[in-house]
Amino acid sequence: MRAYVQIKPEDNVAIAVQELPQGTELMPGVVTLSVIPQAHKIALVDILKDGAIIRYGVILGYAIDPIAKGQWINEHMLRLPTPPSLDDMPFGTNLRTDLPEPPVRTWMGYRNPEGGYGGTRNFLGIQTTVQCVEGTLNVATERIRRELLPKYPHVDDVVAINHAYGCGVAINAPEAKVPIRALRNICHHPNFGGQLMVVSLGCEKLTADMLVGPENNTPENVVVLQECRGFEGCMQAILTMAEKKLKILNERRREELPLSDLLIGMQCGGSDAFSGVSANPSAGYAADMIVQGGGTVLFSEVTEVRDGVHFIAERCVSAEVRDKLAAEMRWYDNYLSEANVDRSANPTPGNKKGGLSNIVEKAMGSIAKSGTSPIVEVLSPAERPTKHGEIFAATPASDIVCGPCQMASGIGLQVFMTGRGTPYNLAAVPVIKVCSRNELKEQWPDIIDISAGAVATGEKTIAEVGTEIFNKIIACASGQDQPFAEKYGMHNYLCIFNPAPIT
Ligand code: CA
Repeated sequence: MRAYVQIKPEDNVAIAVQELPQGTELMPGVVTLSVIPQAHKIALVDILKDGAIIRYGVILGYAIDPIAKGQWINEHMLRLPTPPSLDDMPFGTNLRTDLPEPPVRTWMGYRNPEGGYGGTRNFLGIQTTVQCVEGTLNVATERIRRELLPKYPHVDDVVAINHAYGCGVAINAPEAKVPIRALRNICHHPNFGGQLMVVSLGCEKLTADMLVGPENNTPENVVVLQECRGFEGCMQAILTMAEKKLKILNERRREELPLSDLLIGMQCGGSDAFSGVSANPSAGYAADMIVQGGGTVLFSEVTEVRDGVHFIAERCVSAEVRDKLAAEMRWYDNYLSEANVDRSANPTPGNKKGGLSNIVEKAMGSIAKSGTSPIVEVLSPAERPTKHGEIFAATPASDIVCGPCQMASGIGLQVFMTGRGTPYNLAAVPVIKVCSRNELKEQWPDIIDISAGAVATGEKTIAEVGTEIFNKIIACASGQDQPFAEKYGMHNYLCIFNPAPIT
């Protein structure tokens, strides 16, 4: 097992694979001056005050005080560089064509009756116009699961799309288009098989018309609680509609579909300094295989792309794609600055404990999960893709906000990389968890699906773990396997991105 990881020859820091005791000779002439915690950086040369600290071949920041060779570099020792300019970024200068071949080019999915990407599960999705209905709907959902679902064995589950939006919001504010678009698109998620079912209160701002369109706002699709008689009337209305939809969904069957019908998302959370070494590049390798097979992969998290945006721009296939990338970055810069913060608000205490000193270092690791494929499209938050290939879907980096955004874009599965560990999951979309270091897999053997730790220690290659991730994606998308979180039925509340005011 190797003791340290240096990514690029020009890097003047390396990270410790395990905790290193003081006095360890890491390489000739580099001796640790103190204990170096696992995943943390060690200076390979003397760095002057204001000298650049380089990892991944990029400047993570500038030394606030002189740093000695062998010294531990933590988050208090770097000054953040200015982010890359968004003006006139070169595009199309790094369009890779020799992507890795996928082991298979088909999967077993549900054809989407509305067209577009296939479904990975067969769920009755129950949409809501407003938070007010959640308590009632949750009781009804439990009754559907208990009383109706056993009669329809080809339906996997019932999923209530509860959320905090819908009323008490500035519904006409320009940015309200983001949460409205997200909820509208979630109604048409491929896993819901084209069956619309909406539970509405009756007096909310987000009307059923706005959610599903006037043509779909019919008694066949929408239950209005204020029109039901008492609690039992609410239950009966919801259960009666659910049974009609379950009968139709029960006819769905999986069939062999090309990879071009597969849409997945990549996300990371609870990252550490290994994320960019092991888990994210391995996921990126799997992403490249899916793209090579004709499939589509979304990656997101604007604040974690911002400092590496020029590396994404050079992979954009056209000026139009590059321009939308820049526009999404500018929108987010402005969104942050209006609240008097910037991208440095991103790293968490856990990220820092995991050796990530700042957002530049986090971003360099984060973008690795996008692989190396050309970027064919850029989406605004919760938009649906129109192209096949690698796509940047702008979302916040927050795990529980990025997830629903990608879900609204229609992903059938998400691959989630973590270094610190999180049990995050989505109810409507299976989430495969990949960890960056073996210790986390040992600690959470039944929460983490795949460990990329052997890449960090040098015992496996990125291609080996990347292929393992690809095979897991296909098996889970095809319903032949389930990620741990799905088996346990644990999932997070849907936090819909709302950049508009609440009233
Ligand atoms: Ca995240």
